[in-house]
Amino acid sequence: MALQRLEAACLVRPQSLMVRFDADHFLLFDGEGRWIDAFEAGTLYKRGLDGRVLQKRKGVRRWLSREERALLHETVWQSADKALSAYRVGGLTARAIASDSGDFFSFGDIESWLKCCIAYEPQRLLEEEKRFREVYTPIPILPPDDYNAFIVQATQGCSYNRCTFCSFYRGEPFRVKEGTAFQAHVQRALAFHGKGMTRHRWIFLGDGDALMVPQTQLLDYFDILHALLPIAPTTLSKKERVAWAQQVPGRMIGIDAFMDTFRVAFKQVSEWEVLRQHGLDRVYLGVESGYDPLRHFLNKPGSADQVMEMIYRLKAAGVHVGLIFMIGVGGDLFAEGHYTASVQLVRRLALDRQDHLYLSPFYPQAGTPYVSVAEKEGIRPWEERRMQAELRRFYRGFAAVTAAPVSVYDLEEFIYQ
Ligand code: SF4
Repeated sequence: MALQRLEAACLVRPQSLMVRFDADHFLLFDGEGRWIDAFEAGTLYKRGLDGRVLQKRKGVRRWLSREERALLHETVWQSADKALSAYRVGGLTARAIASDSGDFFSFGDIESWLKCCIAYEPQRLLEEEKRFREVYTPIPILPPDDYNAFIVQATQGCSYNRCTFCSFYRGEPFRVKEGTAFQAHVQRALAFHGKGMTRHRWIFLGDGDALMVPQTQLLDYFDILHALLPIAPTTLSKKERVAWAQQVPGRMIGIDAFMDTFRVAFKQVSEWEVLRQHGLDRVYLGVESGYDPLRHFLNKPGSADQVMEMIYRLKAAGVHVGLIFMIGVGGDLFAEGHYTASVQLVRRLALDRQDHLYLSPFYPQAGTPYVSVAEKEGIRPWEERRMQAELRRFYRGFAAVTAAPVSVYDLEEFIYQ
């Protein structure tokens, strides 16, 4: 990578600084000055807060080695240095992109922001990986709408951890943080993100199923979050909360979390309602399939009827839902049942435009029980063309029976920024 030319501009938003060299070259930095994205001639590099770097080029993804990351950090650092020199002599113009409520910047800020970028020397960026691990345990997955939420880990791992296809928390014991430990964790996370907090608009209460902890404990978590962060009042409509958060960088619109579909008995509508009043906005559910024989095959507890009941309770309490279906799981053996029952399930749910359906292409993970069970049943993973055709079929099937938006959710692209 050779981000050397410098012809154009700094684009400044409250949440990020973009140094644009030309149409094919740019760098994006967070409020602390850590680079987030680097783009050069068709190749995009995305740096996760955990330090990993994903390279994307012509649809091909690859994770960079530590040596490659060090080289890339060096290149980005040199380019930021050139940008600062150019800015000082007027060779780099700046344009502020204001939020709806106005401009948060004086142009004098840009020089100090660029200095912060330069303060993140390659070695310091590599050390950020260690700092991240002091705050967080690995974050294997987030819902796509929350890829750059502010994550807090109230629990770690998954309390069930036996779905055959899932490798997210394998080998990791499930842990629940007590109130004081959670508070200390949130404070450490805030210190780690620093001025980078202005990029986050949502809070994500992790990990896999934090909402399964007892209600009193959950309310403790929510109270701690409210004490430490500015979260939009839930008396406002969603639109008003978004506008409220846009007024000041660092304000949060609401709180999202995952929940297991089979824990329906854990909460009544009234309890969900209390959580909504405390800022819970959307709950993401790994439905995987509306076809009970397939759910059973995957060792996913509960039935499609239980999924319905869970969603009914959440919606009745005014909480939005994000439902994730795995496409291609169970291969040809389950394909027809999976499709038909999943569309039927979605048809029966009263979803609206605030909810969301995600189609997640399924790729078997080495070392998971799914691989051997599928092999025994003669189930083969699909080739890309077959996968794309099925994604299109599900998309059309769902879009015909629900008002909720439908989109593809590719887990292979997950990176926490
Ligand atoms: S899919 Fe969800 S419930 Fe199943 S093991 Fe993984 S995290 Fe746990």
